Amino acid sequence: MTARLFPLFADLRNRTVLVVGGGGVARRKVTALLDTGARIVVGAPALDSELATLAAEDRIETITGSFAESWLDDAWLVIAATDDAIANRTIADAAEARRIWANVVDDAELSSIHLPARVERGPLQIAISSGGGAPMLARHLREQLEIQFDESLGALAELLQRSRASIRERLPDLPARRRFFDRVLSGPIPALLRRGDAISAERALQANLNATTPVHGRVALVGAGPGDPGLLTLRALRLLNEADVIFHDRLVSDEVLALARRDAELIEVGKQVGGNHDATQSTIHRLLVEHAKAGKRVVRLKGGDPFVFGRGGEELEALQLHGIDFEVVPGITAAIACGAYAGIPLTHRDHAQSVRFVTAHTKGEDDGIDWRALAQDHQTLAFYMGVSGLERIRDRLVAHGRSPSTPVALVENSTRAGQRVVVGTLAELPELARVHRVSAPAILFVGEMAALATRLHWFGAAPLQGVPGLRLAA
Ligand code: SAH
Repeated sequence: MTARLFPLFADLRNRTVLVVGGGGVARRKVTALLDTGARIVVGAPALDSELATLAAEDRIETITGSFAESWLDDAWLVIAATDDAIANRTIADAAEARRIWANVVDDAELSSIHLPARVERGPLQIAISSGGGAPMLARHLREQLEIQFDESLGALAELLQRSRASIRERLPDLPARRRFFDRVLSGPIPALLRRGDAISAERALQANLNATTPVHGRVALVGAGPGDPGLLTLRALRLLNEADVIFHDRLVSDEVLALARRDAELIEVGKQVGGNHDATQSTIHRLLVEHAKAGKRVVRLKGGDPFVFGRGGEELEALQLHGIDFEVVPGITAAIACGAYAGIPLTHRDHAQSVRFVTAHTKGEDDGIDWRALAQDHQTLAFYMGVSGLERIRDRLVAHGRSPSTPVALVENSTRAGQRVVVGTLAELPELARVHRVSAPAILFVGEMAALATRLHWFGAAPLQGVPGLRLAA
């Protein structure tokens, strides 16, 4: 078995750390040491301006000249950061002879101590080392951890640190303390801190400590975006990683669901076309409330954005009625995603000064839609749920004055494998969908910008154009 490095965290307060070198590399090491409370001594023939400033502010001490063994006299640790390989070796050898830990920058072989890649969140530190073998991999991992753990983790560590004595006093028994921490860490406190509500978090911790109030779970109403998991927000990803149970629509893609915590319960609560939507909706409300009351971390995952044609508001009202804590995470809504992935800019300085998100899914003559306003020029219309109502949309828009030659685009299954874009004119809209067999989920764009799909397409197959039969007849 090969020998491996042993990780340690060093208390450097009032201990001398010698940094040899006066350039950028030395400066980065010095910067990393500044908040450790170490006595930092920088030895070099000359210092760069930032090191000189630190010296002028008395935050570091300096020795001018080339390395001499006597520089090591008080040192507990030395960092060789010169650009001279021979000097670095001399420093490492001298340190070794005196049993002083030495780090030689970028030289694992000469180093008796390695400085890890770090992620810092308040008092909490995560250190990563590849043993000098693959520093780029360690760095890559660090970046991933930076993304995965937000700043509130520091606040959480601080909160627990502050309460440490009272927790021990209140719960002297270790198993009880473990249960308490499980409850706290999987309960609402991390989410409260993420929302910046330190006061409620502190209060929740106290309530848990007194354990008189039962711990309620909470519900996160999360937008899953249009399908491509790369379009999830970081917060959505974190919540999926934490959830005990996820109630999702049918529209949410398998690729997104695959990112859920492995033992999370996935429950589809999609509405069937033609089904009784109100009954489904009240069942959803009941399920959300039940699971939250049972102390579960519940994610209600909706396609696109939860507040755009998603009945998200109604679900929050139901939760509020039962006193259940919730948060909302926006998602990329279909119109935005479809525009981007089909090469259709939604606005244009000259041709489209506004965008409207409209639902085509309405019934009857009196559909509450202001068709006159929709028929105005210089705007882009994005019709959700439009596949079945295309004839009516065309007829109303044309009847209210929009030109039959206005470009339209149908974007089907956007951001996913198999995305299709069909481009044509308003006049031929229903035939376009029929001939090319456009099916849900698809969005309809109406407006000058729709024509740009043929030029700006970059994702998936090239757009299909027009209705061959009609064109021949014309
Ligand atoms: N809350 C969702 C919309 C729900 S309504 C959002 O913000 O996007 C469902 C409609 O959204 C579908 O009928 C379709 O018009 C549109 N839609 C959702 N995902 C889509 C996708 N990947 N490609 C095309 N249209 C999509």
